[in-house]
Amino acid sequence: MTVDFDRDSLIGWLEEKDPERLQALYSEAYRTKVASVGDRVYLRGLVEISNICRKNCLYCGIRRDNGAVGRYEISSGDVLAAAGFAYGAGYGSMVIQGGERADRAFTDRITSLLREIKKRYPLGITLSLGEQPLDVYREWFEAGAHRYLLRIESSTEELYGKIHPSDRLHAFERRIQALRDLRTAGYQVGTGVMIGLPYQTAAHLADDLLFFKSFDIDMCGMGPYIEHSMTPLYAVRHLIPDKMERLELSIKMVALLRLMMPDINIAATTAMQAIDPYGRERAIMAGANVLMPNLTLQEVREEYQIYQNKPGAGEDAAISSSRTEKRLEEMKIPIGYGQWGDSPHFSRTKSSKG
Ligand code: SAH
Ligand code: SF4
Repeated sequence: MTVDFDRDSLIGWLEEKDPERLQALYSEAYRTKVASVGDRVYLRGLVEISNICRKNCLYCGIRRDNGAVGRYEISSGDVLAAAGFAYGAGYGSMVIQGGERADRAFTDRITSLLREIKKRYPLGITLSLGEQPLDVYREWFEAGAHRYLLRIESSTEELYGKIHPSDRLHAFERRIQALRDLRTAGYQVGTGVMIGLPYQTAAHLADDLLFFKSFDIDMCGMGPYIEHSMTPLYAVRHLIPDKMERLELSIKMVALLRLMMPDINIAATTAMQAIDPYGRERAIMAGANVLMPNLTLQEVREEYQIYQNKPGAGEDAAISSSRTEKRLEEMKIPIGYGQWGDSPHFSRTKSSKG
């Protein structure tokens, strides 16, 4: 059953401190998940294809102006090997994520990679490569990608403005337009926000949840903001809640969103695991149903530190994956092996509209 929270009750829940009431909320969200999308968790093998980025988001460790980062691009052969690994491990899907680039060499390479992956493996492919023009989104869709993640970061324009440079490349309206274009191109659209940002209040987060609902998103990936010392936002780190509070807020956001939108896909994100080794599992018990084990090559993982102390920096794909699966087994959470695990919300609400 869908719960229609109003803004004040969302704020109330986001400020709730009573552990028993919160546990009841999480359990209710878990039950809603099982009833609407099932108890399975879907795995998506994540490949961080490149840390080269034209943008300068004030929170991100791989922002253009961070000269301390060694820039890399994973070869197409290595991406195909990761796709083979994901397929062999029974994941059903993969995610290709990276810095935002607009040059034709890059967008063409992604197109041919998508074609090549689809030729070899029947994997579902999600992209997360930032803002692109509609024709690029279309080209990638036609080449075989069918889900796209582009976080709005904050749905409040004023807060968005505080965490991004104030130039056209980083304009809020551009981000919103990109989300609309993704929908036009036919993708299952995923968005999300960072939680526990400087200047962010419970009212902002309540508005984010209402934004997800009104935009009618198909998927959501959100997680705690984690400060990075080589970024401008580090200067205001005294304004952010402590780590455990950021994690708890993130779990609350997952649970509330599951109750508001029972049949979407919601990810348990790596940033939750960065705060608590069992952070992602907690999110699963509060309504999340997607996990993205990292398949990025060990050699370059350390250079994809969008935030510091990202988990798994010294591991390879096999270790990250088997750890993730072992944890889920320990918790008796079934895995949706060999399936794409698409958002039921999308097929129920949009696919017939084309
Ligand atoms: N360049 C693409 C995808 C890579 S960044 C894009 O920006 O969409 C993926 C996500 O990492 C961003 O959407 C942002 O929400 C998150 N991120 C960046 N810096 C972060 C930080 N310091 N803490 C937590 N999440 C962060
Ligand atoms: Fe680039 Fe994405 Fe980081 Fe922004 S968040 S600097 S677009 S990688």
